Amino acid sequence: MTDAAVDPALAARLPKLRELYSALQDRGLSLDLTRGKPSAEQLDLSESLLALPGEGVHTAGGTDVRNYGGLDGLPQLREIFAELLGVPTAQLLAQDNASLRLMWDTLVQALLFGVPGGEGPWSQQGPITFVCPVPGYDRHFAICEELGIRMVTVPMTPDGPDVEAVAALVADDPSVKGLWVVPTYANPDGSVVSEDVARRLVSMPTAAPDFRIFWDNAYAVHHLTQHETTSANAIELAAEAGNPDRVVMFASTSKITFAGAGVSFLASSPGNIAWFKQHLSFRSIGPDKVNQLRHALFFGDAAGVRAHMAKHREILAPKFAAVTRILGERLGDAGVATWTDPQGGYFVSVDVVPGTAARVVELAKAAGIALTPAGATFPYGQDPADRNIRLAPSMPPLAEVETAMDGVATCILLAAAEVAAAA
Ligand code: PMP
Repeated sequence: MTDAAVDPALAARLPKLRELYSALQDRGLSLDLTRGKPSAEQLDLSESLLALPGEGVHTAGGTDVRNYGGLDGLPQLREIFAELLGVPTAQLLAQDNASLRLMWDTLVQALLFGVPGGEGPWSQQGPITFVCPVPGYDRHFAICEELGIRMVTVPMTPDGPDVEAVAALVADDPSVKGLWVVPTYANPDGSVVSEDVARRLVSMPTAAPDFRIFWDNAYAVHHLTQHETTSANAIELAAEAGNPDRVVMFASTSKITFAGAGVSFLASSPGNIAWFKQHLSFRSIGPDKVNQLRHALFFGDAAGVRAHMAKHREILAPKFAAVTRILGERLGDAGVATWTDPQGGYFVSVDVVPGTAARVVELAKAAGIALTPAGATFPYGQDPADRNIRLAPSMPPLAEVETAMDGVATCILLAAAEVAAAA
């Protein structure tokens, strides 16, 4: 994305745009593009999960899934996702719903106990810093904020985090303990970490001996086109680079089956897995294996997951196409915004005229269109250029996405024209 600059000629369009906006308000809309939730139609794709595993079906590989135990998660399900995520089954844990909880647990354990290869609890080593590519995922930033971890930003590029900027930050400062990365179809800009960038990230020298990359592969199989991008295999690359413990990968079925009742995954080196499990064993006697068996039976194998994701794609792709089409039609030649054209994931990232993102969100709200708050894609909710807006078109029906996007385009134009008129 490049910077959008405001065209002074836009000022002349202000009266007309005010009329257009007033007509938009008169429609009394109530639309929501705030969060990347699956739509009811998508959730319905997994409806038969609710009848699985079925009465009398409760043994998997000799384990009675109704009972305690099996801390690693059900082998049948781990095998399926090990193939999809490109990791050995032995290095993949399947846990309860919400990978965010595994990210939280990993960080809390690091703070309380330290990590393999480190020098004790992070919480006893003075201020801890995480590198945050921006724009990024607000809940990553919220975890850091809640735990008192300092955040420094680096730009996101179409190939992943700006690797030179990351390398410079981690090289000399031992307080820099971690980096957030969404490697595949990043939230919010859809970037995919290239093999080269992945290689640099796992091999760059770090002042902290216990530096960790939180490789949040939330959208590994969430393609919006026929082309199924393969994520760089960071865990394997890290081992090859002699830094086997550097990468901890997270994933889940939240946007495959049920966002509120899925299965989460954590993959890493054997050393990190043993470390994570050792602490986990105090928190739980074992995960919900009934839900894991239900998922294993529902998918059958990795090909079953891929086929299921193709059904999601059929529902999602037209909504994403509508977002980019309407932005193109309404804003294409106005020079007031640039936006991403994601090939997967759940979001479109829009950069509007600097200084107007909050105004656009405010205008949209007053017209009945709820958008993610401006600044949400930056640590502490502060976008220094007040420029980035994250759009999440998955939840509303297609017709509503179209109506909402037309309204959003009007708000982007109006906010830009206001700036041009005031200049
Ligand atoms: N990571 C990213 C990058 C996400 O966008 C989301 C959902 N918005 C999550 C994690 C949440 O995952 P889970 O439901 O497994 O906690």
